Amino acid sequence: MKKTELITQLQGVSQWINQKGWCPATGGNFSARMDEQHFLITASGCDKGQLKKTGFLLSNLQGEILGSQRLPSAEMPVHAFLYETLPEASAILHTHSITATVFSRAAQGKAWPISGYEMQKSISGYNNHTDMLLLPILNNSQDMTELVAALSETMQNHTVPFGFLVRGHGLYAWGEDLATARRHLEGLEFLIACELSQLQLQPNKA
Ligand SMILES: [Zn+2]
Repeated sequence: MKKTELITQLQGVSQWINQKGWCPATGGNFSARMDEQHFLITASGCDKGQLKKTGFLLSNLQGEILGSQRLPSAEMPVHAFLYETLPEASAILHTHSITATVFSRAAQGKAWPISGYEMQKSISGYNNHTDMLLLPILNNSQDMTELVAALSETMQNHTVPFGFLVRGHGLYAWGEDLATARRHLEGLEFLIACELSQLQLQPNKA
């Protein structure tokens, strides 16, 4: 896909996410794969409701920005790692919603089992409400090397449902294209909101 077309699509998704209130105060970051070796990613500190075409930077899979002096989102190494590790990942959306932030602080452990919801079928590969979706919860870190190492270990240990939580921080979701990444993000945000409501009803489940 052409760079300009991809940027227009990313701007559309950013507007939608902004309207949901999932990326307040310039938080969050979005990216999309250009080709096997490159991806576009949001620049650091941009208002996600007013992203300009110049707000997207070109990076290679080593995380080097090409053709710009601007800084990318601080969490760019996570995007680079996912594109390098998962050839099928073509778009990554990272949000800082209140629901994901609160839930990830309330939920104990390294992963949270989700089962019994029709909406699990919004995640590719999950075809039945009785399936078990194990959503990883990584501890937050400002050290991206540490965060990527924890993500790598998690992905080796179990199937990751096209997304994961970072504790007290937010949600990452990806997909084979931007539309699928958006569906995964919305599906996971829905399931997390349900689980948070359930925890409020049954606090001892945490
Ligand atoms: Zn973040």
